[in-house]
Amino acid sequence: MLKGKHLIAGEWTGSSETFASEPASGEPNTFAAATPELVDAAAKAAEEAFWTFGYSSRAERAAFLDSIADEIEARGAEITEIGSAETGLPAARLEGERGRTTGQLRLFARHIEKGDYLDRRHDEALPDRQPLPRPDIRLMQRPIGPVAVFGASNFPLAFSVAGGDTASALAAGCPVVVKGHSAHPGTGELVAQAIDAAIRTHDLHPGVFSLVQGGNRAAGQALVQHKLIRAVGFTGSLGGGRALFDLCASRPEPIPFFGELGSVNPMFLLPEAVAARGAEIGKGWAASLTMGAGQFCTNPGIAVIIEGAEADAFASAATEALGEVGAQTMLTGGIAEAYQSGIRRVEGSAGVRSLLTTSCQAREATPYLFEVSGKDWLANAALGEEVFGPLGLIVKAADADEMLAIAHSLEGQLTCSLHMDDGDTDLARTLMPVIERKAGRLLANGFPTGVEVCDAMVHGGPYPASTNFGATSVGTMAIRRFLRPVSYQNMPTALLDPDLMEME
Ligand code: NAP
Repeated sequence: MLKGKHLIAGEWTGSSETFASEPASGEPNTFAAATPELVDAAAKAAEEAFWTFGYSSRAERAAFLDSIADEIEARGAEITEIGSAETGLPAARLEGERGRTTGQLRLFARHIEKGDYLDRRHDEALPDRQPLPRPDIRLMQRPIGPVAVFGASNFPLAFSVAGGDTASALAAGCPVVVKGHSAHPGTGELVAQAIDAAIRTHDLHPGVFSLVQGGNRAAGQALVQHKLIRAVGFTGSLGGGRALFDLCASRPEPIPFFGELGSVNPMFLLPEAVAARGAEIGKGWAASLTMGAGQFCTNPGIAVIIEGAEADAFASAATEALGEVGAQTMLTGGIAEAYQSGIRRVEGSAGVRSLLTTSCQAREATPYLFEVSGKDWLANAALGEEVFGPLGLIVKAADADEMLAIAHSLEGQLTCSLHMDDGDTDLARTLMPVIERKAGRLLANGFPTGVEVCDAMVHGGPYPASTNFGATSVGTMAIRRFLRPVSYQNMPTALLDPDLMEME
């Protein structure tokens, strides 16, 4: 049952201002809007909670994460129903995303149980060393304190209230204040109810988790500037992420801002692969490009290919496959408007030719496909910007050298893909050192939509794909964002954390 309130330190709290949700189907619901005062109360409670939660055992936190997963599953049908109404995403997609979200919580539980993430080190004392003795020094990773989390509209579960940022921060021992996304406030509230239930089961300090609903951007801005917040995990647009990142950097005491932003995820189609199976790659691309109405940060928006008859065959296959895809509902009216203005920007650019033009109505998206020469693409940096939706751009390079020049000119990306056969290996070797500097994840003969949640995953990349290219927001390494190393020199064992005491 929806309460339409914030969850601040264990209390469901209202506020005088309200906002209405804008669901893709069904009736809107009313929610209390955020205020800077509520943000302050949530941040203070989080700081208070840190003095116990930050010193809880790994086993206690693992059990808490498992309980959150159980509580989300217990509310599964209700979450899917409201999530689907609010976002327009099909029920099957939300069920899959729920599995990913609970799997992610449990993965972090198992990860902290192992303890490797603490990166414990010990340099034993060398009292007889000349000319100076060496002290006994131990190191371990400690949680940083309260973390603010902003989720994205396109993953209302896996990148939202109990998504990867929240799971990794809680696993590290950091209390979390989530700024709810205004595109899915009801979904967010039900997930917060699940976390609230888990907090009660384990009798944790209620400040361990708060949800401040949206409806007021000033509240989100106050959250990243709050002096008790020690880091921000953000998933969303480049514009929103950059605005909040700049606020973090301009604080009297700057804090890290881990922003996972947009990307065009270029694919390089190498000649032998195109000759052998260009049409098949074209069809596969169309499927990846239109999955979830193209609303994925890993959507492969650009295909770079060497011009010629085989490139034309690839383009025809992609055009045909995209032409068969019907209209899909977008997450919000604002995202649909942004998609339409992105289409106008691309089609109005010098040298761009339309291969597939459809017509989008209101909150619905249909695919568009364009092509441009490598020369015109290189002359217009705006063609490398993300269009959030099912829009593809084929960049036809004159030759392998121009393909390499295109790779050099790319901004930071979440992913870059190579489609290649054995005969393409030499060209692929030339591209590798370039694309490795551009992206967090490199793929061969695959499409980047679909990010595995595992130990070896990097979901991040150089700016503007993310604001911190040393980090990932998906996979177990995401926990590192919310830890900092501390050295303990000649510290009596009695003062050490139990995790350090047990070390030789
Ligand atoms: P968004 O509009 O930037 O919203 C994300 C969050 O930031 C929302 O809570 C929003 O508040 C808040 N926000 C945005 N601008 C703000 C500002 N100026 N001041 C204060 N708060 C602000 O992004 P979105 O539309 O939800 O998500 C789509 C984008 O996310 C796409 O670009 C996609 O590529 C990217 N994305 C990236 C990843 C990744 O892992 N890299 C994953 C998924 C999506 P409101 O609730 O008020 O809108």
